[in-house]
Amino acid sequence: MAAIEKLMDKLVSLCKRRGFIFPSSEIYGGLNSCYDYGPLGVELKRNIKDYWWKAMVQTRDDIEGLDASILMHPRVWEASGHVANFTDPMVDCKECKARFRADQIEGAMCGSPGYKGRKASKCGDEGKFTEARLFNLMFKTHMGPVEEAANAVYMRPETAQGIYVNVYNVMQASRQRIPFGIAQIGKAFRNEITPGNFTFRTREFEQMEMQFFVKPGSDMEWFEYWKAQRIAWYDGLGVRKNKLQFHQHGPTELAHYAAAAFDIEYEFPFGWKELEGIHNRTDFDLKRHAEYSGKDLSYFDDATREKYVPYIVETSAGCDRTVLTTLIDAYDEDVIEGEARTVLHLAPVIAPIKAGVFPLVKKEGMPEVAKKIYQDLKKHFPVFYDDGGAIGRRYRRMDEAGTPYGITVDGQTLQDQTVTVRERDSLVQTRVASDKLLPFIQEKMAAYKRME
Ligand code: ATP
Repeated sequence: MAAIEKLMDKLVSLCKRRGFIFPSSEIYGGLNSCYDYGPLGVELKRNIKDYWWKAMVQTRDDIEGLDASILMHPRVWEASGHVANFTDPMVDCKECKARFRADQIEGAMCGSPGYKGRKASKCGDEGKFTEARLFNLMFKTHMGPVEEAANAVYMRPETAQGIYVNVYNVMQASRQRIPFGIAQIGKAFRNEITPGNFTFRTREFEQMEMQFFVKPGSDMEWFEYWKAQRIAWYDGLGVRKNKLQFHQHGPTELAHYAAAAFDIEYEFPFGWKELEGIHNRTDFDLKRHAEYSGKDLSYFDDATREKYVPYIVETSAGCDRTVLTTLIDAYDEDVIEGEARTVLHLAPVIAPIKAGVFPLVKKEGMPEVAKKIYQDLKKHFPVFYDDGGAIGRRYRRMDEAGTPYGITVDGQTLQDQTVTVRERDSLVQTRVASDKLLPFIQEKMAAYKRME
C-alpha cells in the first residue's frame, strides 16, 4: 500500500514539477477533482487524441467525425434513460459525515479530519452508514437569465447521445451506408460522489467515443471485431500488454439494454480498473429516441429493400484516463553511472517533445550549430533546445519529460558535421551526419518498441 501511494505521489509531483498536470485554481486552494493540463500535458493529451482520431476516422472509410454541443434538448436525457437511471447509490457515515459510493466501499479510506486512514468498510461493519440513497450524477444548469424549472438543461454526461441524434444527418451528408460509424471526442460531466486517484475519476473529463451502426444479426460479429481493434490500439500507444485485460460484464453488471459488454482494464497502482467500455447496445438508443422525438429513426436498405432500426456497437474510452495510464505505464526509476534518474518511457508517437538538442559547451560555435539543427527539426516535430548546465543533467531533464532522443553537438561536429543521438531507453549513442538526422530520427520513431 505504502509503495503504491508513493508511486502515485511521485507521479503527481512529477506532473506538477514538469508541467504535465496542475491542480485547478491552485492559488485559491484548488477545486476538488478538477485539473489543468500544462505545456507538456496538453501536448501529450493532443497526441493521444490525434492517435485515436487517426485510427478511428482518418484511416477508415466507414467512420465519420462529429463535434456535437455539450448542452442538448432536455428530452434527450429522458429518452436515453439518464434522468431516471443515471444514479449511483450513496451512503453517509453518521459518525464522521464522510460520503461514499455504496458499491465502492471496498478499498475506500475515510478522508474526514481526525479519521484519516480508517477503512470505510470498518464503519460499514459497525453499522455507522445511513441507508443507501440514489443520487443522479448529471450536472443541471439553466439556459437563459431566468432560473426556472422550464429552462433546466444538463451538461452532457457522455458524448454518445450527440451521435445518436445526428445519425441520419451524418449518414446523408457523407453518403454512408450501414455498417458505418460516427466518432467524437469531447467533454463530459458527471457529479461523481467520490472522485479520486488523481485524474482517474473526475467530474469533468473528456471522452473518445465511437458508435458503430450495424444491421441486427451482424452485431455480435462487429462487437468481436471492435474488441480486437480497440485492445490493439493501446498496444500501438505503447501501453504494456501484460497490464491490459478484458473484463466481461456479468448478468448483474450488464446494463438492461446491452446484449454484451466488455471493459478494457489496466492494472493501475490501485487495482485493475476500466479504461474503455465496449458495448453491444442493441437497438435501444434509436428506438428510444424515435419514441421520444416522434421521428422514424429506422433505416431503409436500398439494396435488400429491408427496413430496420440499426443496432449500435459502442467503443467508449476516457481521454484523461488514457493520459494517466500512459504516464503511470511509462514511469520508471533507474540508476545510470551511479546516479538515480526518473524516466518516462513514453512512446515517441505520444511523447510531448520528440528530441532535445544540446551544445556540449556554450562556446567554440557549438550553440550556433545546435540552434540551426533545432530550428530545422522544429518544422517537423516538437524539439527542445537546452544549453544550461552539465550535459548529464540536461539528459536527465529530458528523460523525466519522456523525450525519446537527445542530440548533442560536440567538438567532433565542428570537424565532420556529425552529432550524437542518445536514445532515452537503451542509452545507446550513435554518431549521425547532421544532414541525415531527420530521417534517422523519423525511422527510429516509426520502429520504436518498448524495451522489456
Ligand atoms: P465507472 O463505472 O468507473 O463510473 P462507467 O462504466 O460509468 O465508469 P462509461 O460510462 O462506460 O464509464 O464511460 C466510458 C469511459 O469514460 C470510461 O471507460 C472512462 O475511461 C471514462 N470515464 C467515465 N467516467 C469518468 C470520470 N468520472 N472521470 C474520468 N473518466 C471517466
